[in-house]
Parts: sequence; structure tokens; C-alpha cells
Amino acid sequence: MSDAPRAAEELTPQSWQADDIVIVGGGLAGLFCALKLAPRRVTVITASPIGMGASSVWAQGGVAAAMAEEDSAEAHVADTVKAGAGIVDQRIAEMMAREAPDRIRDLLHYGVPFDRDSAGKLLLSREAAHSARRIVRVKGDTAGAEIMAALIKAVRATPSIRLVEGLQLDELLTEGRYVTGIRVRTTEGRPIDVSARAVVLASGGAGGLYAVTTNPLGARAIGMAVAARAGAVIADAEFVQFHPTALDVGKDPAPLATEALRGDGATLINKKGERFMLALDPAAELAPRDIVARGVFAEIQAGRGAFLDARKIEKFSDRFPTVFASCKAANIDPAHQPIPISPAAHYFMGGVLTDANGRTSLDGLWAAGEAASTGAHGANRLASNSLLEAIVFAARIANDIAAVMPEKRTAKALEMPPARDAYSPELNVGEQRLRQLMAAEVGVIRTGSGLARALNEIAAIEKGAQSKALRDMATSTLMIAAAAYARTESRGAHFRSDFPQPDPAQAKRSYFTLDEARAVVSRAAAKAA
Ligand SMILES: Cc1cc2nc3c(=O)[nH]c(=O)nc-3n(C[C@H](O)[C@H](O)[C@H](O)COP(=O)(O)OP(=O)(O)OC[C@H]3O[C@@H](n4cnc5c(N)ncnc54)[C@H](O)[C@@H]3O)c2cc1C
Repeated sequence: MSDAPRAAEELTPQSWQADDIVIVGGGLAGLFCALKLAPRRVTVITASPIGMGASSVWAQGGVAAAMAEEDSAEAHVADTVKAGAGIVDQRIAEMMAREAPDRIRDLLHYGVPFDRDSAGKLLLSREAAHSARRIVRVKGDTAGAEIMAALIKAVRATPSIRLVEGLQLDELLTEGRYVTGIRVRTTEGRPIDVSARAVVLASGGAGGLYAVTTNPLGARAIGMAVAARAGAVIADAEFVQFHPTALDVGKDPAPLATEALRGDGATLINKKGERFMLALDPAAELAPRDIVARGVFAEIQAGRGAFLDARKIEKFSDRFPTVFASCKAANIDPAHQPIPISPAAHYFMGGVLTDANGRTSLDGLWAAGEAASTGAHGANRLASNSLLEAIVFAARIANDIAAVMPEKRTAKALEMPPARDAYSPELNVGEQRLRQLMAAEVGVIRTGSGLARALNEIAAIEKGAQSKALRDMATSTLMIAAAAYARTESRGAHFRSDFPQPDPAQAKRSYFTLDEARAVVSRAAAKAA
């Protein structure tokens, strides 16, 4: 399929007057923020029909919160800071850990059926790199689906929330530094301008920019691209977390085999049956995610293959129903066969820079969830901290908007287009090329020369893009590759084989505007010439 211009993109935009608050994204961050704003009117716009196209629905592990008697917010912060490899914003992490139990109580109030013990107390599980049992889960590996089902029900029962599905964010409308609304596109390509006094970006992560990912295909950091084009500061874009154990069964996106399997004793082996992680880290399969991802990647690159051996796990289908279903669909019986795996782009620590109240560097624009970079995760996210970050900061945004805009404005009802998924599974040539480029040169192991090559090609694709979808993808990839080129060290999820050690002088977060990222592209081109 070619990247042909769409005639509809030339159409004059239709104008909508929305309520004073528009949230882009109907995942956990977007819906939680809308519920917290109730009874204030708010419009939630999503590209995919609600309940689809959101990573939140696919979350398998759970939400981290220090709620056990022997646990504390301080211990949760210490684990978060350790995982973040020297650049976590301590103040933000403290806020997140402290507010976690209250946000879990909010989820219970919205009807989330978290697992409980026989005495009715919340059941808390342990996950790798957490020093205590602090993960609230639902029925094995179905936390995301159950949380989202409860929130969708609550949202549908809340009259103040208007859901508009099947519209894709294209641009931020601005007047000077002030964001005055958004331009969206229908599935037919018709542009619509939606005016708003407050815009909340909750449009999710960046995994879909990579050829191998566990994220929905629409997770292409479009929020970051449009914000960057409007002049917003983007933080930590080089930090993409790769999950070490996505199922390598020819599916796009790749199904995930949760970390909890390794926590329960599953091991990683190569074709010869050797446990290769034993030689790489004292914690072997339970080493930090980035170390395991690099171990798996290296084994595959060396032609030895990588497999998750879960044959000793008892009651697999009951305890891990989602993973079992994915194996079954690929004709793999995990009770008798090792499961082929590959690292996959999984979580984006970077995004639109926000402060403690979710405010971005542009007036009138907030960002929450994976679209935002709060600094809570540093260079590497601790498992189960992302759903937590989404709800903690979505709630803070709701409070902040209420504080800065106490007077309300309500518009008349919008004319709803039919709900359809805005993302076609069919990718055009340019989109496919970008995803391959990201996996090959901006992936698990990076080099300066590979990143320079990637930047050169991304810049050309961005310049020649004839559709907004491709241009947005190119802008997102450019922000990530430029930040990765500029960080000449290895830290957390960012690994440069030409600079394999951390450099204490670079132990700080990164901040780029689009113009600054473009300057990195020019620098890389000049060096390569
Ligand atoms: C397989 C998997 C398992 C995970 N397990 C866990 C876990 O156990 N614990 C944990 O803490 N985290 C987990 N994560 C990470 C976590 O799920 C995400 O970080 C979190 O759900 C992000 O929520 P969000 O609301 O920011 O984005 P999402 O839930 O991805 O929602 C994004 C929304 O934005 C919309 N959107 C996207 N682009 C556009 C656009 N251009 N225009 C309009 N709308 C748009 C989408 O349609 C969607 O409604 C997992 C992730 C995956 C993929």
C-alpha cells in the first residue's frame, strides 16, 4: 500500500464547540480523569471504540500500592528509585507511592473486583524488583481487563461524561502558548476542530512504533508528536522498556507472557535447553527487565533461540488464563513445550513533560498516563507502577483543572460519528519501514552509527510524508531516536553498545523540543558525512 495523500485531509475542518474539558484517550488515564472530574462535563475522544486499542485493557499483572502492614510508601519509593537507574524524580515518586492506597480505594469504589483473601482483605502479590507484596491483581492475569470493564461501566453510568469514539487526534489548536483545542480526523479522513479550554492528552504509549511490540497498534505516541509540533517539551524519550518475554508466534502485536510466570519459577532457555540468564546476572531470570531483555535479544541474535520454559508451573491455564489462551491459539501447550519468545517494545518512560499536577509546558495542556513523562519511572519503570502512575496523576489533573478553572462551560451535544476503530491493521509502506527501523536501530541494543542512520531516514520519511498518520509517526520516532543519539551512555532501558557504561555526568533526565531534536538530526548527519 502506498502513502498516497488523502483528499479528505484537504477538506475545511468542521467546528465543534465541546465542553470546556476535552480528554484525548479512553484508556485508564483518560477514563479515571473523566470520572474524577464528574459531575463536571467532559468530552472523552478516542481513536478506537472504548475498551479497544488501549494498553490498559491488556495489563496482566496489576497495580502497585504499599497497603500491606509490613510495607510502606518509603519502601515503594526506594524500589522505584532503584529500578529507575539514577534519574527518577524522587519527589514525584514519593507523591505517587503516598497517594497509591487512596487511588486503589477509588478503583474499589468504581467497582473493580480486586482479589481478596478468605478474610476479605485485599490480596497482595509480589513482583520482580518489589521488596514487598504490593500488587493488587484480579483473577490471575486479568487485572487490566477487569479494571477497564469496571471503569467503562462507571463512565457509561456518569451522565457528565460524553464519549466520542473513532476520532483520531491530528493537531493541537493554539493561540500563542495557549492550547485552545484539538483537530481530530474521522475514519473517513474528515477534519474536525474541537475547541476547549483544557485539553488532557491521555493517548497512551509508543510501542506501536516498533515492529515487535506488546502494545495495541495505535500506541504510536501521537500525543507526543502533536504536542512536540506545538512546541511542548518532551522528556526522557530515549527510554523505551522492552519486555523480555513476548510470545514469538508471528502475531502483531505480540502476546505477552507476564513476568509473574518467571516469579513462579518459569526459566529461560535456548534451543539446547541451557539457562542462559545464569551466566548474565546473579538473579538470573528475575534480573531487572532490561538485563533479561538484552539476554534474550543476544541469544536470538546468536541464532540460539530463546524460550520460556513453564513446564513446571502447576495449574497454568487457571492461573495464567490470558497467556494460556495465546499459547493455545498458536498451538503451543505450555505444560509440555517451551514457549518461543522475543523482546518487544512494551512501555514508554518518555513522553510529554509534566509537573506534579500533570501540567505540560504549554498553557491549557495537561498529559496523563503513558503519554506523559512525570519522572516517576526514570530510565526504567518498575513493574505495575504504570497503571498506578496513570490513576495518581489523572486524579491530580482533575483537581488541578477544577482549581484553575472553577467556572464551568457546557456546550450542546456533539454530533457523534459512528464508533469505528481508527487504526487499520494494514500499515502502509512508510509506516512499516519506520517500525522496522525502530526495531533494528533504536531497539534493545543501540549504537551511534545505527541511530544516525535511523535519524537520517526518519527525517526523510517525515519530510516526504503525504499523510498525517505517517508524519505523526515519523515525528514520534524522531524524538525517540534523537534523544537516544544524544545520550552517550547506557542507563536503565537505554543501552548503547558503543557506550556500555553509565556516565555519572549524564545522570539526569533529558528534555527536547522538536527544534532541539531536529538540531540533533543535523549534528548526526554532519558527523556521519
Ligand atoms: C500487554 C501489556 C501488559 C501490561 N501490564 C501492566 C501491568 O500489569 N501493570 C502496569 O502497571 N502496567 C502494565 N502495562 C502498562 C500499562 O497497561 C499502560 O502503561 C497503561 O495502561 C497506559 O494507560 P493509558 O491510559 O495511558 O493508555 P492506553 O490504555 O493505551 O489508552 C490510550 C487511549 O488513547 C487512544 N488514542 C491513542 N492514540 C490516539 C489518537 N491519535 N487519537 C485519539 N485517541 C488516541 C486509544 O484509542 C486509547 O483509548 C502493560 C502494558 C501492556 C501492553
